[in-house]
Amino acid sequence: MPGRAIRNGFLDAVKEGLKKPKACPFNCIKTCDVTNSPYCIMLALYNAYKGRMDHGYAFAGSNAWRCDKILKVSELFDELKAGYNTKLTSL
Ligand code: SF4
Repeated sequence: MPGRAIRNGFLDAVKEGLKKPKACPFNCIKTCDVTNSPYCIMLALYNAYKGRMDHGYAFAGSNAWRCDKILKVSELFDELKAGYNTKLTSL
């Protein structure tokens, strides 16, 4: 199953083979083989959920690279509307 994740130190450590799980705490995925897993995805996602990004990671959509700041939803919609109106007037 492909997924897009934001690269961080945790994923770099996974790539280097440094995050092998020592045990399986939840048996949450039938096909997960703890002896061969590069990391425990359950713990990684739970850590990310708790904000502990040095012990987890986040998935993102294909437009994540466009984000350079955190916006309020109302600000985002104002930008989208302005872009839409600009496009309409150029037609
Ligand atoms: S993701 Fe973690 S908790 Fe879930 S089955 Fe694999 S090792 Fe166990």
